[in-house]
Amino acid sequence: MTGDPRATGRVLILGGTGEARALASALEGTGIGFISSLAGRVNNPRLPVGPVRIGGFGGPDGLREWLLANRIRAVVDATHPFAATITRNAARATAEAGVPLLRLRREPWSPGAADRWIRVPDLPAAAAEVARRGTRVLLTTGRQDVGVFAGIDTAWFLIRVVDAPTAALPPHHALLRSRGPYDHTSETALLRDNGIDLLVTKNSGGALTEAKLAAAADLGVGVVMVDRPAEPDSAAVSDVRAAREWLELLLD
Ligand code: NAP
Repeated sequence: MTGDPRATGRVLILGGTGEARALASALEGTGIGFISSLAGRVNNPRLPVGPVRIGGFGGPDGLREWLLANRIRAVVDATHPFAATITRNAARATAEAGVPLLRLRREPWSPGAADRWIRVPDLPAAAAEVARRGTRVLLTTGRQDVGVFAGIDTAWFLIRVVDAPTAALPPHHALLRSRGPYDHTSETALLRDNGIDLLVTKNSGGALTEAKLAAAADLGVGVVMVDRPAEPDSAAVSDVRAAREWLELLLD
């Protein structure tokens, strides 16, 4: 699906998240024109309201040229906290094009008293922890990161993904195709019924996939928590209302 940004779009929302969809909904009817952008990674993505373009821009240079050609007045980078490349590209392209940038980034999860988190800086470190500690692992790091665990033959993995991975998979595994949100009851049942002793997740934050953490804490299941990658400095907010207010002030 495509829209004509010259007719309707003044703000570019870099999306692929619930926050990006919520921002599009919050802008609808305000008089602020916008267009959402998706990478095109998943089949049948959840679409935001309003015009949408799908596919990469061709790196930071391509994004800069697209911003200029489409007379974009502001960019809201509402991409996932682990989508580090597009966030880096957005910072560079907006700086070069002289377009204001706001990062809309949800708060990370933080551990409660009952949580047993093993925090790691990246996915290879998560794989090393799994190789040391896991026997039955729920892997929720997403389709693109499964390959990092492919060499581990000492654990069985329940791999939960939206779309089937194309990377190599660990020798002992089952695939579970599903898309959140998930609730506490179903997450508890999933962990218990599969005898899971280790949960692996990125620190995505947000309510839609948070239930697995409380379920793991209740069952005494350890959590390997991958910390977020560093991001370039930019103006940032953590909720949709603040993003809308920033845009209203800027574009008034
Ligand atoms: P990434 O590694 O940061 O980006 C790789 C390339 O994908 C970018 O260089 C860009 O291509 C293109 N791209 C990414 N987001 C785009 C967007 N919103 N619109 C147009 N092009 C985009 O991204 P990723 O981690 O693969 O994530 C892809 C998308 O899935 C993001 O939109 C993100 O919000 C969403 N998502 C990611 C995760 C995750 O865990 N990484 C989880 C949930 C949702 P060009 O260089 O050609 O412009």
